[in-house]
Amino acid sequence: MDTICAISTATGESAIGIIRISGADTERIVRKVFRFHKTSGETLVPWHFYYGHIVDGERTLDEGLVVFFKGPKSYTREHMAEIHCHGGAVALRRVYKAVLDTGIRPAEPGEFTKRAFLNGRLDLSQAESIMDVIQAKTELAFDTAMLQLSGNLSQIINGMRVELLRMMTHLAVNMDYPEEDIVEITYDEIRPVVAAIQSQIEGLIRDSDRGIIIREGLKVALIGRPNVGKSSLMNALLQEERAIVTNIPGTTRDVIEEYLNVRGIPVRLMDTAGIRDTEDPVERIGVERTRARYLEADLVLTILDVSEPLTRDDQELLERVSDKPAIIILNKADLDPQISEAAIQKLVPSAQLIRTSTVNDIGLTTLEEAIEEAVNRNQVSSSGYSFVTNVRHRSVLEGALVLLSDVLQGIAEGQPYDLIEMDLRSIYTLLGNITGETVSEDLIESVFSQFCLGK
Ligand code: GDP
Repeated sequence: MDTICAISTATGESAIGIIRISGADTERIVRKVFRFHKTSGETLVPWHFYYGHIVDGERTLDEGLVVFFKGPKSYTREHMAEIHCHGGAVALRRVYKAVLDTGIRPAEPGEFTKRAFLNGRLDLSQAESIMDVIQAKTELAFDTAMLQLSGNLSQIINGMRVELLRMMTHLAVNMDYPEEDIVEITYDEIRPVVAAIQSQIEGLIRDSDRGIIIREGLKVALIGRPNVGKSSLMNALLQEERAIVTNIPGTTRDVIEEYLNVRGIPVRLMDTAGIRDTEDPVERIGVERTRARYLEADLVLTILDVSEPLTRDDQELLERVSDKPAIIILNKADLDPQISEAAIQKLVPSAQLIRTSTVNDIGLTTLEEAIEEAVNRNQVSSSGYSFVTNVRHRSVLEGALVLLSDVLQGIAEGQPYDLIEMDLRSIYTLLGNITGETVSEDLIESVFSQFCLGK
């Protein structure tokens, strides 16, 4: 493979910036752009840092460090180097340009990790978890991604594939002896193994709801008519003033999205314009978006102002909450109540009611607990971590589940060995999509194209 390079640190002012190089030509490039300090000598011992200057011919571009990783003991398993120069746009850009001018090409997004995968250093699910590690918004999300990186999902999937392969071999051996009693014995042996894999996959899928939320964030829509205190509540949760707080109805026109860390769960809090009929075109756009957010949300927080009697708009909102996990927030609990909790509970029996006040700081902890509870309602594995956190993995497992029940049905009907063997083979191949053993070029492209540059 050709030699590639990329700026691997974030742009912006910072003390240092790192440029990464990978490929057979790495050492030549380092020697070309890096002038070792006179005390270092000229030998480039792998995995050692060297101090010196980055140069373009006679011109000194920057001062920095270089480290050479000799393949296969490197991230990509190829020869690699990192040039540590100053952070900040100018230093990074000029050093990067000098490296590119040696005749190598810029890496595509995720290309370093792709090479690590293609060279067998990581399997596909591990490679995917690297992006999750980088993008994690909470400690829990980070730890979950680190577990996937360490290969715990891969181990589970590989375990299933070993079993499937064993059954396929068993069937293949027996194919020459199609006498009925042998069929019976063989199927008696296979059935429980298939059923065990099936229930293991069912467990993984059940748990994935939570896993996906941990990775992607719980989508929480804050819904309520204008002026009930949505922005104030969001700010109280965020503990910083991002949303506009005002007492003119209808001013929080757009949807504001913020990440919030609720006990380790990344919450994508979507503040919205109030749902109400309006003639104002700008506000109407906001209202339409609110409806879209409502449909998209995992959890809807409907907010009422208890200091005012229930309006028609409030009632309409309440009628709608029944089809989603819902929490109804009775805000402004510091004021004289005009709404009775019993009346609301009667309207929406399934909802949880929480009294809050953003002024007196009432109920916010209860609200956080309720959000956490909403996520943990799904089964959590005994370790407390979810194994499946990714929609791609879940859909592979769902496909495998369908095929597994086909196998069980085929066995029940006494179908011939070769048909059962074929189904088992399809499951084996499908599960290989998670670890990347049986993936197509297209899938690999699509996974790595979601990566950031320099990774
Ligand atoms: P939004 O339109 O739903 O986003 O409502 P805002 O957050 O802008 O709040 C509307 C008004 O209600 C502002 O004047 C807030 O200060 C006030 N408000 C918000 N929460 C409370 C509360 O818990 N108690 C009282 N007394 N006033 C509140």
